[in-house]
Amino acid sequence: MEIMPYLRKHGHEFVGVFQDKKSGLELFIAIHDTTLGPALGGCRMWDYEKEESPGEAALSDVLRLSKGMTYKASAAGLNLGGGKAVILANSKKLTKKKRVEIFKKFGEIVNSLEGKYITAEDVGTNVEDMKEIFKKTRYVTGIPEEMGGSGDPSPLTAFGVYKGMTACVEEALKTSNMNGLRVAVEGLGHVGYLLAKMLHENGAKLIVSDIKEELTKKAAEEFNAKIVSPEDIRFEECEVYAPCALGGVINDHSLAHFNCKIIAGAANNQLATQNHGDQLHQKGILYAPDYVLNAGGLLNVSCEESISGESYNRDKSLELVAKVYDRIKEVIRLSKENTISTCRAADVMAEQRIEEARKKNKK
Ligand code: NAD
Repeated sequence: MEIMPYLRKHGHEFVGVFQDKKSGLELFIAIHDTTLGPALGGCRMWDYEKEESPGEAALSDVLRLSKGMTYKASAAGLNLGGGKAVILANSKKLTKKKRVEIFKKFGEIVNSLEGKYITAEDVGTNVEDMKEIFKKTRYVTGIPEEMGGSGDPSPLTAFGVYKGMTACVEEALKTSNMNGLRVAVEGLGHVGYLLAKMLHENGAKLIVSDIKEELTKKAAEEFNAKIVSPEDIRFEECEVYAPCALGGVINDHSLAHFNCKIIAGAANNQLATQNHGDQLHQKGILYAPDYVLNAGGLLNVSCEESISGESYNRDKSLELVAKVYDRIKEVIRLSKENTISTCRAADVMAEQRIEEARKKNKK
């Protein structure tokens, strides 16, 4: 990858490459844009050795994901920028001791950035890693509640998805009542299960799938959910399809077979490409852009002291996360006003806030 042309095109402010021979840490940190505030974004640990060019693959991820965080934070209405860290390691091969050393060193590096980048959990990292980082820096979120952090983000993500889904239902179905609506929940993990619970409590009829049978059985028992196979869930006749498992679920194949009015779920990167979002729009299926809808976890960590400057308070966090409803309403408004798909409208909403802040900063 030709790095400078890429940075110029996408506007990244900073990219750091680190190697610490003692701990074995190999790391990229990227800060995309700090116009709105310090860059927040998770630390991913991934085994890139399977790739043809591990360094390039990691660099490409850190650049792409940090930019995504700028959009996510802006669209969520937060005064935060986008950043990301990627550690090149195979977590299965790491001893516990080595892992601790790696995250302590990582904490030192994050600390040396003096708050321009604030880290968090991501794919391949966990709350124990965040606790190690916390020993070296305050610029870390996602630490346990007993240590003053915000704990598991999943309940807040699920709550945000539920609120945003309500906004979609109001728009597409002209009702604010979930009672009797058929919602197909794909994936009953941390977020999907809690979303299903909320929907059930509000009278929705659930259709569920998961590759883990014990989870679908539980949902059938607790929520009277109808179980369908992972292959069929996307194409079930329903009012709302809620992807809460994998990315890429809106693609050439699925587009031809959707049988829903709304797509609103927690999964990241649901659209194979932005064009697939445009095609949903043309078909009259209302799509809640994933990064706007699943921002509950991000909004939740933004209430931690390292960012808000105040002790974490769950009620305040819930109040903030409930605003996902307003953000989705705004996306829909922009989509109508500009006759563009909701996925493009979400980007416009994110870019507008940054642009306005940039103009203000210049004054
Ligand atoms: P999770 O790993 O707890 O749950 C995912 C579930 O999907 C698992 O139960 C898994 O068995 C199931 N699954 C996997 N493949 C499937 C398939 N083909 N069909 C049906 N089910 C399948 O993850 P999670 O934390 O619940 O997150 C779900 C999605 O939401 C992910 O895409 C994640 O990136 C995104 N997300 C999560 C959060 C959060 O706070 N946890 C925040 C933002 C975005």
